Amino acid sequence: MTTLFEHGIVVTLGSENKVLWDGAVAVDGERIGGVGDPLSLRTKFPQAKIIDCSGKVVLPGFICAHHHFYSTMARGMSIPGQPASNFVEILERLWWKVDRALLDEDITLSAQIPLIECVRNGTTAVIDHHASPGAREGSLDLMEAAVRQAGIRASLCYEVSDRNVVGGGIAENERFIRKTGKGDGQIAAMMGLHASFTLSDQTLEKCAGIARDAGVGCHIHVAEDAADREDSLKKHGTPTVMRLEKLGASGSQSLFIHCVHVDDAEMDRIVATDTAVVHNPESNMNNAVGVTPLLALLKKGALVGLGTDGMASDMLAQMRCAYLLHRLANRDPRVAFVEAPQLLLQNNAAIARRQFGLPLGEIAEGNPADLAILDYRPPTPLTSDNFLGHLIFGLVDAVVDTTVCRGRVLMKDKQILVLDEERITARSRELAPKMWKRLQAL
Ligand SMILES: [Zn+2]
Repeated sequence: MTTLFEHGIVVTLGSENKVLWDGAVAVDGERIGGVGDPLSLRTKFPQAKIIDCSGKVVLPGFICAHHHFYSTMARGMSIPGQPASNFVEILERLWWKVDRALLDEDITLSAQIPLIECVRNGTTAVIDHHASPGAREGSLDLMEAAVRQAGIRASLCYEVSDRNVVGGGIAENERFIRKTGKGDGQIAAMMGLHASFTLSDQTLEKCAGIARDAGVGCHIHVAEDAADREDSLKKHGTPTVMRLEKLGASGSQSLFIHCVHVDDAEMDRIVATDTAVVHNPESNMNNAVGVTPLLALLKKGALVGLGTDGMASDMLAQMRCAYLLHRLANRDPRVAFVEAPQLLLQNNAAIARRQFGLPLGEIAEGNPADLAILDYRPPTPLTSDNFLGHLIFGLVDAVVDTTVCRGRVLMKDKQILVLDEERITARSRELAPKMWKRLQAL
């Protein structure tokens, strides 16, 4: 079965980034069968189903390198008492209660809703970090089922932490890693770890060993707040990145999330170990933890990707947030114009390739057919030379009309075809107040 998406402006991205006006993309099974002009692709695929993309821009599907689907039901919840005044209080009063209050059905709904939002925003691959200490066993299977139903790709892990019980989550993580193995291109597995300050040497070393043996990476929050760095210095006499490297958590399969409070020597070790970093600007601003030294990391050659940390599933908005944040933080209007799109478009693709073993992030013949098709009629000429200007100031606010992943159309004419949003959100509104009530008792 071949589908021809034709007459759109096709932006291929990848090393050559071609912009094809009145272009066409043939989707043949799960792969891209051809990219070019409509006439030649119609000749190549005479039986193809035609989808008209006039007035639209066709891009590779977006990738989110760090998400927390489980955070969904915290939306609109009020927390009694004084507002949390720092990062550790935010965890203690909010997130470490939300995750404990989740039951099986909450986990499924909490995944389905952001998955719908991913489809709506053209996000076709996500690296998620899950926690549900009150319903741990089998939780990753529930998430996998939701992801398969939604039709996008996800790398899943369970957040191991010693905060509730020593080594909590190891068994669920290890079970899922063994079950998933190298993955099937749609689902991948990682070893999830909360953060240095909630993990003993023993737990960290054990988890890093399980990950190493299975050939997967560790997915861990690193120096998100100054408290994580201070804890590592005080208890272990070494900064966070050095501690994690010593215990085996670094490496090219691993993801160090945030890295806000890292020094020069730690950045050098991140580069030397080829560990990828994921920047989450909206989350960092929301939690008031500081600004990741993004430009310094990139200058040293670190692979830095972009995530939402559970805040949202709209990657273009996250990209613009990174762009604005680093201009302001550096008080320099010359920076971040290239870097912020680079995180989203090139670096997230590189990170996703490490996770899924697939050439994601580029529309090219033979590559996986993951597409985001947006309503956008450029008001000025759009070429490969000025694409970034259109991305940051135009496409960022464009509405996604059609989303395709693994060759399957998941949304068309802005209609989600894979999950029943009305039913799912209605059920979630029923269960959320019950979850909030359980949470108040914790
Ligand atoms: Zn996170």
